[in-house]
Amino acid sequence: MPRQCYAALARSLYFSPLNQPPDGKRMKQDNILVIGANGQIGSVLTAALREVYGTYRVLATDIRPPLQESGPFEILDACQGEALDRLVRRQSITQIYHLAAILSASGEQDPLRAWNVNMTSMLNVLEIARQRHVAKVYFPSSIAVFGQEARPVNTPQYEVLIPETVYGISKVAGENWANYYYRKYGLDVRSLRYPGIIGYQSMPGGGTTDYAVEIYHYAIQKRPYTCFLRADTALPMLYMPDAIRATLELMEAPANRLSVRIGYNLAGMTFTPAEIAHSIRQYLPDFRITYRPDYRQAIADSWPSSIDDSLARRDWGWRPQYDLDAMTKDMLQHLEQHYHLHGTTTEDR
Ligand code: NAD
Repeated sequence: MPRQCYAALARSLYFSPLNQPPDGKRMKQDNILVIGANGQIGSVLTAALREVYGTYRVLATDIRPPLQESGPFEILDACQGEALDRLVRRQSITQIYHLAAILSASGEQDPLRAWNVNMTSMLNVLEIARQRHVAKVYFPSSIAVFGQEARPVNTPQYEVLIPETVYGISKVAGENWANYYYRKYGLDVRSLRYPGIIGYQSMPGGGTTDYAVEIYHYAIQKRPYTCFLRADTALPMLYMPDAIRATLELMEAPANRLSVRIGYNLAGMTFTPAEIAHSIRQYLPDFRITYRPDYRQAIADSWPSSIDDSLARRDWGWRPQYDLDAMTKDMLQHLEQHYHLHGTTTEDR
C-alpha cells in the first residue's frame, strides 16, 4: 500500500475519540492539534505530546510539509479560519497548541506581514476554540514582550511592556487577547514567555537568540563561528528539555492554581556569547569565535538579561534542570552522534 494511503487509513482508524491508540499503551483521552508543528519547538513538542497522548491522538499541522512524518500530519495555514474550523470539528479536537508565528528577527524584515500572520492566526485559534468548546489552548509568548523601559535584571511578571519589535507587539497583543477570552468566555488559554530556546533536535526559525543553537553546530564540526551579537550580550535562555517539560507541566496544572492568564515569566539560565564559547571550549579547546553584530544586536539590547519567574515556581512548581555547562555537555554529545550518523553540514539542516 502506498505510504500516503496507509497514513490516511491509519488516521481514519485511530484518530477518533472512539478508538484506542494503536500502540496499545494506556493514554490520556484527548485529541490534540499542534499548529506550526514543523518548527524548532513544534517538532520536539509534537513528539513529546505523542509520548503522553499516543501518536494518533496528536495531529501535527504546518504551512509546509515535515522533513519526515512520524504520525498524522496535515498542511494547514492557521490564517485560514475556515480550514482550521473544519479540522477542529472533523477531528473533535480538545486541545490546541498554537506555535505558528513569524519570529523576532524575521518579523523585522516585513513587519506588516508578521503582524498579519501572528494576529490573524491567534484570533482564529481563540475564536474557533471558543465556538467549538475546545477544552484547553496553549500559545507561547516570549521575553520579546519586554522593551527598553522594562527593568532589565530579574524582570518581574507585571512589568511595563513597550516592545521594540513587531513580533513583541504581536505577543503582547496575543497575551491580552488570551486573557480576554479567559475572562469573558472562560476559555482555558495558557501561555509561557519563553526565553531563547536551545535544542539539538531542530534548527531555529529566525529569532534573535538563534546564535546559541548555531554555535554548537559549528563547534562540533570544528568550524569557527561568527556571532551576530556582541560578546557581552547577556540574554535569558532555556534548554529544550526544560522548555518542553515546562509546557507539559503548565498544561497539566489544575486550572484553579493558575493566577496568570497572560504569559508566565519563565527562566532557565542567563549567558553571553563569550560565556557559551567558554563553556564549549571545556570540551573543544580549539573552538574559535568572532563577533560581527548586525541588526539583531538592537533587538537583543532591548530585552532583559534575566527573568523573575517566581509566579511560575509558586503556582505550578516550575524548576529548570539545566545550567549552561550541563546543556553544553548534552548538546555536544547529541550533535556528535548526529553528525557522525548523518554527516550533514550546518547549511544542509
Ligand atoms: P519556528 O519559526 O521554528 O516555527 C514556526 C512554525 O510555524 C514553522 O514551522 C512555520 O512553517 C509555521 N508557520 C508559519 N506560519 C504559519 C501559518 N500561517 N500557519 C501554520 N503554520 C505556520 O518557531 P519556533 O522557534 O518553533 O517557535 C514556536 C513558537 O514559540 C512561536 O510562537 C514563537 O514565537 C515562540 N517562541 C520561540 C522561542 C525560541 O527561542 N524558539 C522563544 C520565545 C517564543
